[in-house]
Amino acid sequence: MSQDPRRRVPRTDAVLDDPRLADAVERHGREGVKSAIRGVQDRVRGGEVAPDQVVDEVLAALPRRASSMTPVLNATGVVIHTNLGRAPVSPMAIEAMVDAAGYVDVELDLATGARGGRGTDTLAALLAAVPDAQAAHVVGNGAAALVLATTALAARRDVVVSRGEMVEIGDGFRLPDLIASTGARLREVGTTNRTHLADYAEAIGPDTGCILKVHPSNFLVSGFTSSVDVAELGRLGRERDVPVVMDIGSGLLTPDPVLPGEPDASTSLRAGADLVTASGDKLLGGPQAGLILGRADLVQRLRRHPLARALRVDKLTLAALEATLRGPATPTVAALHATAEDLLPRTRALAEHLGREVVAVEGRVGGGGGPGVALPGWAVEVPVDAVARLRQPTDPAVSVVLARVDGGRGLVDLRCIPASADETLLASLRHALQP
Ligand SMILES: *Cc1c(COP(=O)(O)O)cnc(C)c1O
Repeated sequence: MSQDPRRRVPRTDAVLDDPRLADAVERHGREGVKSAIRGVQDRVRGGEVAPDQVVDEVLAALPRRASSMTPVLNATGVVIHTNLGRAPVSPMAIEAMVDAAGYVDVELDLATGARGGRGTDTLAALLAAVPDAQAAHVVGNGAAALVLATTALAARRDVVVSRGEMVEIGDGFRLPDLIASTGARLREVGTTNRTHLADYAEAIGPDTGCILKVHPSNFLVSGFTSSVDVAELGRLGRERDVPVVMDIGSGLLTPDPVLPGEPDASTSLRAGADLVTASGDKLLGGPQAGLILGRADLVQRLRRHPLARALRVDKLTLAALEATLRGPATPTVAALHATAEDLLPRTRALAEHLGREVVAVEGRVGGGGGPGVALPGWAVEVPVDAVARLRQPTDPAVSVVLARVDGGRGLVDLRCIPASADETLLASLRHALQP
């Protein structure tokens, strides 16, 4: 027998049966552990790993997490960060999703044992939060809500919309293209900077399916501008018997003084919108979802449309959305409302631990709305090169942190980090700052 350790590669089955791998087999499955074993066997053949180190190396090679998504501490100061999955859901929403993950009475009436209504409690929570809505429906995201509304109300007919509201929502997706894809015809009125009530009035005819008002949630138009507010559109719509759909985008259900220019569902409905569409994972701080709120007859038309089935949400979303609506203030709301005064003591304590400076910064609402809103706060200044190390710690036990680079400085903003994670954040910073 050869003494070359590369020839003494342990057999897969023998490694798999090692008691030290029993927990790993239970967690990852036999196939998952086997593929890790094969990788380590190759390294034994290559002389990189000693045969008696195989089990330790297999354990080290197995993924630490159940999916490849890595949790990130958001130190950017941007509350709704699109690349970080928008809103972090509340602890209560997480609990609701865990409960709903197995068999659950989502469509069963436990009192009678008969079939029950799907999502009725989630819709009730939504209506309790927005009493101005007669009815509500939930679909997969904001774009789906808009697609369902324009399809059900205006397929092969006209959607009257201002040229100032033909927005791109991100990643190259444009609302006009989305609406056109449903078979509705866009009837553009006005100009980029100015649209008047008469423009809408002239465009309405026997072929009009709905009037659409879109909140330009990610940019500001200033200067010589004018637009028609939802109250005026509501009056016009009632006069001409045409429903008015308002896409508010953000998912704000009631007005928020921190976001003065941001439309909310309650105010829009009261002002005259027949339907409001919005996202669940922006300012509402819930799971990805599309909310549809408004007139009962219209909501019913949408719900009965064949497309509704293709856009329906899963039980995890229903559970998380209900918990978001009924539970305490979401992490998103907390981050938006944290004042400079609130944030200073934590930021100062962190800076002192590290021997770094505190600098004044402005946080942002981000992809959820409030394009012109600055959120005054503080950051711990770090060298720019530490920002990359915070993002990719060499020790897998250290949490990943996304900081911001601005004006040649690395900035760690605590606005979107819960106080309960301050110790974890400190450990990440110590790791990234060590020489
Ligand atoms: C974000 C947004 C959308 C799209 O919503 P998703 O949930 O991303 O599908 C549509 N309209 C407006 C005004 C938005 O801000």
